[in-house]
Amino acid sequence: MGFQVTRRKTRTCMVGNRPVGGDHLVAVQTMTKTKTHDVAGTLATIHAAQEKGVDIVRVACPDDKSAAALPEIIAGSRVPIIADIHFAPGLAIKALEAGVHCVRINPGNIKLDLVQKIVALAKDKGAAIRIGVNSGSIMPRKGLEVRGDMELEMADIMVETAVQWCEQFDKWGMHNFKVSLKSSDVLTTIYTNREFARQTDVPLHLGVTEAGMLQASTVKSSMGLGTLLAEGIGDTIRVSITGDPLDEVDVGFEILSGLRLRRKNVEIVACPSCGRDEVDGGVETLARQVQERLKDYKGNIVVSVLGCIVNGPGEAAEADLGIAGAKDAGYLFKGETILRRVPNEKLVDELMLELWKMERERAESETVKA
Ligand code: SF4
Repeated sequence: MGFQVTRRKTRTCMVGNRPVGGDHLVAVQTMTKTKTHDVAGTLATIHAAQEKGVDIVRVACPDDKSAAALPEIIAGSRVPIIADIHFAPGLAIKALEAGVHCVRINPGNIKLDLVQKIVALAKDKGAAIRIGVNSGSIMPRKGLEVRGDMELEMADIMVETAVQWCEQFDKWGMHNFKVSLKSSDVLTTIYTNREFARQTDVPLHLGVTEAGMLQASTVKSSMGLGTLLAEGIGDTIRVSITGDPLDEVDVGFEILSGLRLRRKNVEIVACPSCGRDEVDGGVETLARQVQERLKDYKGNIVVSVLGCIVNGPGEAAEADLGIAGAKDAGYLFKGETILRRVPNEKLVDELMLELWKMERERAESETVKA
């Protein structure tokens, strides 16, 4: 079994048919970047994200045109859709009427009677609500002595605000909700989510906002989300990237698989290479070839790709199959057992043959059992 994250106990929030929280796998989200009224473009992103395994997709709903496009988008999507609303309660109502599975609102930006109306409609429709509290929308407490540490003061107000909204929603009889406490600062994200998690059983959506382009966001999100997830905090995540929404899905799954919270179909364990690398063009080239050949593989497999055999296949013992470069001919191995030597240029072909052989054997043994 080895090391496993112990998840925080939360209630479950149903976003369409996808449970979030409880014992359910941490859900990966992304957000489309097309104009939502461009139904074909938005659905193209959603379908591509579905292929990558995304669990839930959020779309912006900034105007009536976007709200009007929602029924067609919902009908064309296999995964639940969240409408992202800022300030405009009327659009939240329209999105719910259109059948979205969840609306993301910041209730602090909406008059209380209208929040209540949105909550009542969501309840009526069986939709979820994500209560979004962002550091940018929090005001320092008027008339209160700031404790000298404005950052901490603001973080505490974020948590307090989120907890108060949860209590209010519960009083209104609405229990199908989750919360996000977002900041572009990693330490604030960690602090606020930890504090909130300590005080409630409400599922948490994690994200670091404005995290930047691919590299910066991957690092910031891995630190912020990774720290919390390793502590068992977080029920759904979105990695915000200034760039391709599909990268958001890939990085999300990388973070979760790194913490053993989700298993990817294909996990490639590649060595970093060094002066001992015996692969023509280097181990990176070989790893890319393996990644390309396995991109449509739907089973579950861990493949190790090593530049040399110096430490033996034991270096990647958790892999199902592996290849390693060597002078003249490399090695193909299964677990820790070396199967055979193979010319370096044939390593990937032989790996694929071995994989199909494993698949065939598995299928035959399942037929015998049946
Ligand atoms: S497996 Fe070989 S090439 Fe790769 S990092 Fe280790 S020693 Fe270097």
